[in-house]
Amino acid sequence: MMHNLTIAEQIKGLKNREFSSLELTQHYLNRIDDSKLNAFISVTSEQAITQAKMADSILSKGNALSLTGIPYAHKDIFCTKGIKTSAGSKMLDSFISPYDATLTEKLNYQNMVMLGKTNMDEFAMGSSNENSYYGSVKNPWDTKKVPGGSSGGSAAAVASRISPFATGTDTGGSIRQPASLCGITGLKPTYGRISRYGMIAYASSLDQAGPMTRTAEDSAIILNVMAGFDTKDSTSANKSVPDYTQNLSKSMKGLKIGLPKEYFSEGLDKGVEKVVMKAISDYETMGAEVIEVSLPNSIHAIPAYYIVAPCECSSNLSRFDGVRYGFRCDDPRDLNDLYLRSRSEGFGNEVKRRIMIGAYALSAGYYDAYYLKAQKVRKLVSEDFKKVFKEVDVVMGPVSPSAAFDLGSVKDPVSMYLADIYTLSVNLAGLPGMSIPAGFSGNLPVGLQLIGNHWSEELLLNAAHQFQLKTDWHNASPVD
Ligand code: GLN
Repeated sequence: MMHNLTIAEQIKGLKNREFSSLELTQHYLNRIDDSKLNAFISVTSEQAITQAKMADSILSKGNALSLTGIPYAHKDIFCTKGIKTSAGSKMLDSFISPYDATLTEKLNYQNMVMLGKTNMDEFAMGSSNENSYYGSVKNPWDTKKVPGGSSGGSAAAVASRISPFATGTDTGGSIRQPASLCGITGLKPTYGRISRYGMIAYASSLDQAGPMTRTAEDSAIILNVMAGFDTKDSTSANKSVPDYTQNLSKSMKGLKIGLPKEYFSEGLDKGVEKVVMKAISDYETMGAEVIEVSLPNSIHAIPAYYIVAPCECSSNLSRFDGVRYGFRCDDPRDLNDLYLRSRSEGFGNEVKRRIMIGAYALSAGYYDAYYLKAQKVRKLVSEDFKKVFKEVDVVMGPVSPSAAFDLGSVKDPVSMYLADIYTLSVNLAGLPGMSIPAGFSGNLPVGLQLIGNHWSEELLLNAAHQFQLKTDWHNASPVD
């Protein structure tokens, strides 16, 4: 079946005319139609068919680029010209973007086929995809469970093979955690590797886009196209983009893996721990050396992140005022009433909670005690990694303390924040991180996290690919 092919295989199939982009696209659109996971906010069938026909004509002329004709699902946080871009919020339910994000442009330039926009936690705030205005997404392995968040729609779409690849964004784990909970491969690159232009901002110093795919090889293929400097994003790195597919086959012999002792303490589910330890022993069998390391400040990552991220979000989300974009309340009495009611009615509870925390922590008198302090802790978290990467090449550990939990089961926001314990430090330090399928706890998938030094995406992809050559977890499927 076409939907069981990887992107690498679909590229070959298109080149050899085994199937057309239109056939491939129609196949996925039918699967989306039949899907009950609520993974998409918008399905753009008509545009997809036009793009697929265009791709077929380019393929037949022999002018194709590497990804021409490959369908994908786009997280609904990336602006798409002429198409609704909601960020999972009522605030932007009626927002039709007048321009494309740089990432959208890059995928369009390849003549890829966008199937639609995926569901997500409102403004990417969440770890379960239960904060979406458009309802929760279901985990394809067990529809009573969450898919993880905030890129839950993207993860569920790839896992259930209703899209071969999806874009995601990761501010504190939103690519890696849903990838882990849905059993797919998710890569959050180094901060600055992919342009943030046209990616609706949550916390600008942490936000980073990345690919969500089934395999590491596919992830490398996609990162080749996503990465690169952009003059429209002053925080994107002016650094050349290597061919990420070139070094996938290097041996793991001599690779030094750091295991942070803080990541294997109480709070980690036993089933998850078992899977992670087995995966690490597989690396030892491949010739890698495992060294215990310490990230002593990682316990402070949650409080530091949950100050820095809300501060940046309270500033970023001030633009939604009922005047310029999106939702406006009915019959405002005066300007204050317009602001107050548009924001009260347009934002969901979690977003409001974060705006309030951020506005409080940034206010005069509290700034030094909270924001400045959190920034200092952020520096300490970074320095822990700096020390560790003098000793080891890659850090490995769990992605999430448990496998997917029941929809509706985590009611208290702070308990939800605790789910981010192993992912947040990576964003605070701006490092690249990956989640790869490593096994199961019960009937639910569990990811292994790989964390590298800045700009070590090639090494992470290489290590992930080698693991996938030796194991079959990435091929496990919740659907036929
Ligand atoms: N769960 C984290 C949060 O709610 C991370 C979200 C993300 O990476 N976008 O902030």
